[in-house]
Amino acid sequence: MSDVVVNQQVVVVGSGIIGASVALACQDLGAEVTILDKGLLGGIASGNSFGWINASFAENQAYFDLRNEALERFRALDQRLSLENHMRWQGTLWWEDMGHDFAEQFQVLTKRGYPSKLLKYSEIETLEPHLREVPDQAILTTTEGAAQAKSVALAILDEVKRNGGTVRGCVPVTGIRQAAGRVSSVQTEVGELLCDVVVLATGAAAQSALIGLDWTLPMANNEGIILQTDPLPQVIQHVLMTPDVHFRQNLDGSFVAGQIFNGETNPNVSAIALASEIISRIQTKLRDIPKLRLAEVKIGIRPVPLDGMPVIGAVPGLVGAYTAIMHSGVTLGPFVGQLLASEILEGYASPLLKLFRPVRFA
Ligand SMILES: Cc1cc2nc3c(=O)[nH]c(=O)nc-3n(C[C@H](O)[C@H](O)[C@H](O)COP(=O)(O)OP(=O)(O)OC[C@H]3O[C@@H](n4cnc5c(N)ncnc54)[C@H](O)[C@@H]3O)c2cc1C
Repeated sequence: MSDVVVNQQVVVVGSGIIGASVALACQDLGAEVTILDKGLLGGIASGNSFGWINASFAENQAYFDLRNEALERFRALDQRLSLENHMRWQGTLWWEDMGHDFAEQFQVLTKRGYPSKLLKYSEIETLEPHLREVPDQAILTTTEGAAQAKSVALAILDEVKRNGGTVRGCVPVTGIRQAAGRVSSVQTEVGELLCDVVVLATGAAAQSALIGLDWTLPMANNEGIILQTDPLPQVIQHVLMTPDVHFRQNLDGSFVAGQIFNGETNPNVSAIALASEIISRIQTKLRDIPKLRLAEVKIGIRPVPLDGMPVIGAVPGLVGAYTAIMHSGVTLGPFVGQLLASEILEGYASPLLKLFRPVRFA
């Protein structure tokens, strides 16, 4: 590992949970950081997310390893920034699939050594006494949690500012300039900013071109609906992943729910109509609770690189340019920020990122 290079000027484009995490980690390693966002601070997808922090679902071992370690790193960030108002580590009860798929999921988790327990009816009933539709079995994954990702991003941005970093919203970045074969500045709608390194954490906008950069990331973004209710007393204890709705309760008692898992919205059904239907599904699943009242409905766009996997590391063809684009960015954000900062400022290329490099889209 090479020596830490101090006082590198790092510009991070995007202030969602990924950009904020990268910036904080770069600052921790001695860089002077500036975060620029074309819109309001805290991100776009990060504000429309279900926010489930988990390693339950990973298509391959490398992706599982990344996600699994990410849970630990998120816990450390929680302790450092006292994020208790923005997140909970309540664990998950999962029974989205049944039969063979359920058995296979439990087998995969067990094989990977992931903390998970098969619960039967009576155990589920005890853990979730307000559940009316109790499944015969469910998988309990105890180390997981959920966050209001935009609030977490804003808390991280506050920390960056406290430590002397610059954070600016409403500054669209339009291009990157280079000199002597490497990044020298970013161009914005309000002027040019000199830098040694630029990190593109632009979420679903990753496929948009920037002047001076001959590379964009092909994306397969998709939509999902997220709704929030008015606060109720705390009645559910876990993130509940049921066959037709995912839901959880925030610390203030509001429910957060998501439904469209495959990314296809039905143009013939309005978001409000769908949200109302989801609410009544949740109401039916629970007993002895007050009426759920819809407070907010959001259609979010998941930033999904074309092959579905995270894209993290050096941008092909431009020294000093890096990127970090992914779905499951809530789970992965704090850890990915640390990995990327270490690579940029310490020259350490983590083997955990081997399969997730931008160069596969060169
Ligand atoms: C419906 C839904 C459910 C989800 N559920 C989960 C979940 O349960 N668990 C999980 O881990 N993840 C989940 N995700 C994914 C997760 O929310 C995202 O992966 C994560 O928020 C991405 O963060 P980000 O910082 O990359 O993007 P964003 O939060 O979108 O931030 C990107 C920022 O870049 C800015 N930007 C873009 N272009 C420019 C430019 N040219 N100049 C300046 N600024 C620019 C944008 O304004 C934006 O603020 C979900 C997402 C959605 C939509």
